[in-house]
Amino acid sequence: NYQTFQPAQGAFNDKIILVTGAGDGIGREAALSYARHGATVILLGRTVAKLEAVYDEIEAAGGATPAIIPLDMKGATEANYRDMAATIMDQFGRLDGLLHNAGMLGVLSPFAHIDLATWEDIMKVNVTAQFMMTKALLPVLLEATNPSVVFTSSGVGRTGRAHWGPYAVSKFATEGMAQVLADEYDNSHLRVNVINPGATRTAMRSKAYPAEDKSKLKTAADIMPVYLYLMSDDSIGVSGESLDAQTR
Ligand code: NDP
Repeated sequence: NYQTFQPAQGAFNDKIILVTGAGDGIGREAALSYARHGATVILLGRTVAKLEAVYDEIEAAGGATPAIIPLDMKGATEANYRDMAATIMDQFGRLDGLLHNAGMLGVLSPFAHIDLATWEDIMKVNVTAQFMMTKALLPVLLEATNPSVVFTSSGVGRTGRAHWGPYAVSKFATEGMAQVLADEYDNSHLRVNVINPGATRTAMRSKAYPAEDKSKLKTAADIMPVYLYLMSDDSIGVSGESLDAQTR
């Protein structure tokens, strides 16, 4: 069962894994978890101080020295992603795992009140950036023996819900992008899957549900089994799936 999966000791030794939004929330926990199991992690995010804190924590725990890529996905261009891919190719020669985790919620509001600029920002950060990054990194991923690409969806990426506007639409697009890629690379060694984290105690969740009792929520650490499963060799051959990190 992937919801309780525990990798073997050193299961991620020799794996190079890029995590977006690695400075906070679920992405931070995923980066720390991959590093704990032996991976060299590439920490991509917007706030450098947060990425440096994760870097320090990994080094202090005796993990492989990470790399940091400061990047604001709201403004990044195809050229930025191409440069990034070239740097990773130079430094590592391949990429074994890509976790698309960074995302923005925007403002929950009735459809009639959705502001176009907010809509465009959310589509850029949650969809277009993933397209550009994946496109640029495909050649680097295909250099790996068993590369894994993981996207992050949401419950509202499978069933629309009032007031979740552009965020929900962006997560449907994410599910679609993963399906298109998985189908296209079906006969290759590249696998592409999606995780729906479920309600998790992070800053984004607090923004969406400011009044709820946070102590009842799962933590990012609680939902790591599926994140470890899809990056581990135990999921070789699994592609085109959209998995729930939590039992519903
Ligand atoms: P957080 O808001 O806690 O963390 C999001 C991370 O993404 C942060 O590190 C943030 O950087 C980064 N990020 C946001 N915008 C940008 C940008 N423009 N450029 C680069 N990095 C950016 O969110 P969660 O950890 O809760 O969410 C992680 C993923 O899980 C998201 O895709 C979210 O949609 C999804 N999700 C979360 C759920 C939950 O209950 N928490 C439920 C369902 C889905 P910085 O630290 O600098 O702000």
